[in-house]
Amino acid sequence: MTDIQEENKIDLAVYMSDGIARLMAKAYKNVLSNPREAKFAFRMQQTFSKSEKRRKKVKEQEDLDVPTFLISSISTTCNLHCKGCYARSNGIANDVVADRKATLTPQQWRDIFTEAAEMGVNFSLLAGGEPMMRRDILEAVSEVKDMIFPIFTNGTLIGPTYLEFLRTHLNMVPIISIEGNDTATDERRGRGVFQRAMQAMERLKQEQLFFGTSITVTTENYHKVTSVEFMDQMAACGCKIVFFVEYVPTEVGTEHLALDEAQVMELEQRMEQLRKTYENIIFFSFPGDEKETGGCMASGRGFFHIGPDGSAEPCPFSPFSDSNVVTMGLRGALQSPLFSKIRDARALGWEHTGGCTLYEHREEISKLL
Ligand code: SF4
Repeated sequence: MTDIQEENKIDLAVYMSDGIARLMAKAYKNVLSNPREAKFAFRMQQTFSKSEKRRKKVKEQEDLDVPTFLISSISTTCNLHCKGCYARSNGIANDVVADRKATLTPQQWRDIFTEAAEMGVNFSLLAGGEPMMRRDILEAVSEVKDMIFPIFTNGTLIGPTYLEFLRTHLNMVPIISIEGNDTATDERRGRGVFQRAMQAMERLKQEQLFFGTSITVTTENYHKVTSVEFMDQMAACGCKIVFFVEYVPTEVGTEHLALDEAQVMELEQRMEQLRKTYENIIFFSFPGDEKETGGCMASGRGFFHIGPDGSAEPCPFSPFSDSNVVTMGLRGALQSPLFSKIRDARALGWEHTGGCTLYEHREEISKLL
């Protein structure tokens, strides 16, 4: 147990494994009416209990805590220009080819996730930029059958060819990003984007594919997007997973949109209510209930971020790195000096007002490099 866990009497490995077992049990129950998805969910339940043993083995033999999930930014391009896009402000997504970060090959991403699966990692959220702009990488990644890849997409590219791909690769799960209703979504993402996202959901529903939505939660929309009226709409669209992502003010002047501590607690309470009301929907919040997890889960404690060039970063909102998973492997990245210093400095438990501890303390984190 690390200091934070000791201090908060939480064994994160057990907490995460239990959480995943509950998640998969609920997912399995959700898709029972669909034999193909049910067969897949059942297989993944078996796989994930094996993964838990793999994580335990790595812990015993190498004294290394293996995170249960990763966040991987596989694309440096996007077909939208959303206001306040953290990927564009962090330099992950860029329209100017010459200014784009180097990107890994599909083979390199497949190798990274093959090592991850062997260590017992269950999921990698795929982000960017727009991940569906990199079909070549998605094809390669989908071959790592012992992992599930939630694809955080704006949904505008989900047409017949992607439907065929998703039908064939059930471990690729589309999570369509919106801001709430049509007005809020189009206001931030551009005119007509909400309609295109709803059309994508309709196509996925007709195909009986397992999918979800991701909603950026701000002080302006958190009541609306956690309301029964809005969630009825998402349930009717066929969403089986809902991610509430707390807004992180990476754009100067948008600090007022970040939830404060009281609002984060209210969000967690409203999610508890939604879990009771919508038994067949799985709800997550990011960065989640840090009180439950004894602080932030970045820097390999519960997850870490892999940049488009393979750089290992504590979190997408903390773009600092001193290691690369291609040259050092996942094991090397997990033991990187920066990650160790962040964990040793107990930075993951530092006080903070908005959604992201490390973003708020970015000056101090940059000094640890
Ligand atoms: S879709 Fe995502 S990556 Fe693209 S501009 Fe919008 S927020 Fe940024």
